[in-house]
Amino acid sequence: IQGHESGDQLLISVAVQLQQLLNKVAQDATVARVSSDEFVVLLNALGERQNEAALVTERVARQLLEAISQLRNDRELPISASIGITLFSGVSHSMNSVLQQADIALQQAKAAGGNKLRFFNSDMQTSVLERASLEGDLHQALARNELALHYQLQVDHHGATVGVEALLRWYHPQRGWVSPATFIPLAEENGLIVPIGHWALKSACEQLAKWAAQPAYSSLSLSVNVSSVQFQQPDFVREVEGLLAETQAPASRLVLEVTESLLMREPTRVRNTMLRLRARGIRFALDDFGTGYSSLSYLKRLPLDELKIDQSFIRELLTDKTDAAIVDTTILLAVSLGLTVVAEGVEKKEQLDWLRGHGCYRYQGYLFGRPTPIEYLFETY
Ligand code: C2E
Ligand code: CA
Ligand code: CA
Ligand code: CA
Repeated sequence: IQGHESGDQLLISVAVQLQQLLNKVAQDATVARVSSDEFVVLLNALGERQNEAALVTERVARQLLEAISQLRNDRELPISASIGITLFSGVSHSMNSVLQQADIALQQAKAAGGNKLRFFNSDMQTSVLERASLEGDLHQALARNELALHYQLQVDHHGATVGVEALLRWYHPQRGWVSPATFIPLAEENGLIVPIGHWALKSACEQLAKWAAQPAYSSLSLSVNVSSVQFQQPDFVREVEGLLAETQAPASRLVLEVTESLLMREPTRVRNTMLRLRARGIRFALDDFGTGYSSLSYLKRLPLDELKIDQSFIRELLTDKTDAAIVDTTILLAVSLGLTVVAEGVEKKEQLDWLRGHGCYRYQGYLFGRPTPIEYLFETY
């Protein structure tokens, strides 16, 4: 593929060469260029010959991709190619589904960062279909009353309950409880997180208002997770103010949990939003600390009150020296910045002892209770 003037010419020639090479190994092969840098290969090979055809295709396609990236480096041509490949045999398939499969493989190749090839496999199909069906159902979830908040205790070093975190759950009519780790990322991509997050905040405020009226619970804080997408809505401050007024929840008991990904975006605007909410008495916790792009300058500039050490550092705290060092340093950092530090994912008494010995006095984890429906919250511990 030397000697081509434009990147485009070169990519056309790539497709032609691939086609010619594949004609030698497969019953028949179709190479199509579906956009400037996207290629699909439909490989028709029977039974035993499938493996061989797949191997040769992979080898040839890889060499072409390597040549492309070399040319890109040497001649600074802005070219790359993504290749999706699917195998089929005979005429039993409908051409439509073969093309769909190649396209799924192509999308995976692109998602892998470009200049990659991917073979279609049935797992890909399952995950694409699964995602689409889950997404469709999520659209209905709010209207069908399938969302719920579960609550998890936060405990201090005397064993007293000092706060609660609200965690979303989705009760899917067929699948049962779906974890937010599955559906929140989906909701963030398609924007559903905005109405869902509103619903969660509203339900949490209603609960907070109930506690405020009962002396035994009136000093509890309630932490609510806020997605970056939701937080960056232009009217987020008014939304929260509206909910506080509507539910009569005490703002000074509300903690909003944000993640480092939020702080990376428009820091000035984020800071202003936080300051306006803080003027109402709302507090902020930085969630999952240590897993994102932790920048110490955010910690200094933003009005944070609390820092939550991610559970991934707590898990092997007692056996992994690096994790122990990170947790130790984080506690010192939080204390010196005047932040409350909360350890997440505390499951064992030994972890609790270690944390207490190192100056962390607030904990959340299965040791004290799993997230539960409100009716059972104060029974579990
Ligand atoms: P997160 O905010 O870091 O929540 C803590 C997660 O750790 C929860 O998972 C909780 O069930 C789990 N957990 C608590 N203690 C332990 C423990 O001792 N061991 C282990 N292994 N896990 C523990 P969950 O409920 O599946 O939530 C996952 C994530 O979904 C949350 O992580 C949060 O980022 C997101 N999320 C949950 N509710 C909401 C919400 O209302 N809005 C938004 N935007 N995100 C939410
Ligand atoms: Ca959280
Ligand atoms: Ca967390
Ligand atoms: Ca987390």
